[in-house]
Amino acid sequence: MGRLDGKIAFISGASSGIGEATAILFAEEGAKVALLARRTERGEAVANAVKAIGGEAIFIQGDVSIVDDVNRAVEATLKEFGALDIGVNNAGIIGDAAPMMMMTDEQWRKVLNTNLDGVFFAMRAQAKAMGKSGGSIVNVASINSFIGTPMVSAYATSKHALLGLAKSAAGELAAQNIRVNSVCPGLVRTEMQDYIADISTNGHPEKFEHPYLARIPMGRMAEAIEIARSILFFASDDSSYCTGSTLTPDGGVTA
Ligand code: NDP
Repeated sequence: MGRLDGKIAFISGASSGIGEATAILFAEEGAKVALLARRTERGEAVANAVKAIGGEAIFIQGDVSIVDDVNRAVEATLKEFGALDIGVNNAGIIGDAAPMMMMTDEQWRKVLNTNLDGVFFAMRAQAKAMGKSGGSIVNVASINSFIGTPMVSAYATSKHALLGLAKSAAGELAAQNIRVNSVCPGLVRTEMQDYIADISTNGHPEKFEHPYLARIPMGRMAEAIEIARSILFFASDDSSYCTGSTLTPDGGVTA
């Protein structure tokens, strides 16, 4: 018996990294999954990987920063599976590295539109779709929800804001039996970290030593599956009394 047997889950940013690991883990735990991302080939591959282990999945191509894409994706989930129980709002970008003083309006907005507006659009559509049947919404925030990082101020701002959004929505949605929680990972070995290594070294990622790595008491980055397990905790009834809460799988870096 799986911890998500019979549940329908919507996962954004499911074409790689944490979202991909979450899609597979949720399917192993018995959920049917609807997957949203921009890259069709990668998203379809994850849906096929779910089907290969006997699960049910659909991939919907779309951009979380475009409200119509998000609404269309939630509608497609309802059409395919008939209900929505779990929303995992995981899609995110780090954006360009730039000092705040030099950041362009476009660079700022791109990160905020994806990481903050995208989660708001999805939560609103998910809460409407769940209606009075209840459900669980899990947002993927970051240790940058608690601390700032020079050169990525838009990212840290968006991740701080996600906690305010989740806590406020938790208070509003409790009456509908919808829980809203946030997972705040530390460094995770995904394409996002590859990108950070690339932009920090002008294209020589092999020379990159992440400035936070030495500050992680556990001495290593997380694997995506270790974050997916925290997301599973909030998605499942194991966290039935948690709402407005945060879980920080970060190897102790903010301890
Ligand atoms: P990845 O880059 O592997 O995954 C990001 C995912 O988000 C991809 O599936 C990408 O798919 C999707 N995505 C990005 N922009 C959009 C968009 N506009 N619309 C739809 N999908 C989008 O990195 P991670 O797995 O690491 O990142 C997942 C989440 O985890 C992010 O929110 C990130 O901020 C957070 N996080 C990551 C940490 C890390 O160290 N890796 C640390 C803390 C938090 P596609 O390109 O196909 O659209």
